[in-house]
Amino acid sequence: MKRRELLKSAFGLTAGLIGVSALKPLYADELMVKADPMYDVPATKVSDRCYYILAADPEPSPENHAFFNNPGFIVTSKGVVVVDTGSSVQIGEMVLRQIKKVTDKPVIMVINTHYHGDHFLGNHAFVEAYPNVDIYSHPTAIQNIKSGGGDFWYGFMQRNSNNGISGTVVTLPTKTFNGGETVKLGDTTLKIHQFGRAHTESDLIVEVVEDKVAFLGDTAMRRVANMADGSFKGTIETMKQAKALGCNHYILGHGPHDNVSICEDMQTFCEVIYENAAKYYDEGLSDFEMKPKIMAEPFMKDVASQWPGYEGTVGKFIAVAVAEVEKSMF
Ligand SMILES: [Zn+2]
Repeated sequence: MKRRELLKSAFGLTAGLIGVSALKPLYADELMVKADPMYDVPATKVSDRCYYILAADPEPSPENHAFFNNPGFIVTSKGVVVVDTGSSVQIGEMVLRQIKKVTDKPVIMVINTHYHGDHFLGNHAFVEAYPNVDIYSHPTAIQNIKSGGGDFWYGFMQRNSNNGISGTVVTLPTKTFNGGETVKLGDTTLKIHQFGRAHTESDLIVEVVEDKVAFLGDTAMRRVANMADGSFKGTIETMKQAKALGCNHYILGHGPHDNVSICEDMQTFCEVIYENAAKYYDEGLSDFEMKPKIMAEPFMKDVASQWPGYEGTVGKFIAVAVAEVEKSMF
C-alpha cells in the first residue's frame, strides 16, 4: 500500500473512532496533523445585518479545501448569529476571520440549516473560539449526524479534498429548533421556519425580519445537486412558503443570493420534473425513456441546462422523482 493510501485509510479509521464524542481529537502521534488553513474569501454584504461568504466552486476539491457552500452570518446588537459553518474546522476559522473584519461582537449562536457536512463540519471552529456558544439544528438533523451522517460527511470531505479537512472533529449541535420559533436578539428578530421535507427531511430556514432577508439553506439553488434526501412535492410547497415570506433577498447554501426569482425557478424546476415524471409514469415509461422528453421541456432546455451539474445529474433527479411518484401511490 502506498503511503498516501495508508494515510487515507488510517484517517478513515480515525474518523470512525473519534465519531461524535470528543472535541479534542485522539489521533495517534504520527497522525496528529491539521490540514492547511483555508484561504480568505471576503464576506458579501446583503443588507444592514446580513452577510455570507460566497463559495466560487460547485463541488469540493483539494484546491478549494472542500469550500463549496456559503456560510452566512447576521450581526445583531447582541452578537453574531452564524448560519451554516462550512465543511471543516479550517473553513470555520476562515469564517471567524471574515466576521472579525466586520464586527468586534462575539458569536452568540450558530444554526445548522441541515445535516449535510458542508453546513455543519465547521462547528468545531466556533466551539473552540466560543466554548459556550449554542449550536442549533432540527432534532432530526442532529439524529442524522449521530447515526452515521457525521462519519459519512467527514469521510466525504476528506476524500474530495485530499485530506484537506484533517483536524476537524464532528461537533454536534447542542440545542434544537423545530420551526415556528421567534428569537429576539436586541435589535434583530429571527423567525425560524420548517416547511416540511424539501432538500432534506428537516431543513431550517432563517428569516431576518427587520432586513427582509431569508437564509434558505439548500432548499433552493440554481444547480442540480443532492436530492436523495429530499422531496419534489415538499420543495414545491417550501418554495411557495418562502415566497410568501415576502423577503427582498434570499441567501442560498450554494451560488449567489437573489430576489424572489430564485424561489420561482426552484419551484418551476421541481414542478417540471415531478409533474412530467408522474405523467410519463402513468403512460408506462421508464425513467430512462422519459429523460429526453423532460429535458426537452422549455424550462429545462432554456434555464436549468445552464446550471452546474445539469448534464451529469439530471437523470438521477428524474429517478428520484419517479421513486417519489411511486411512493405517493401507496
Ligand atoms: Zn445540502
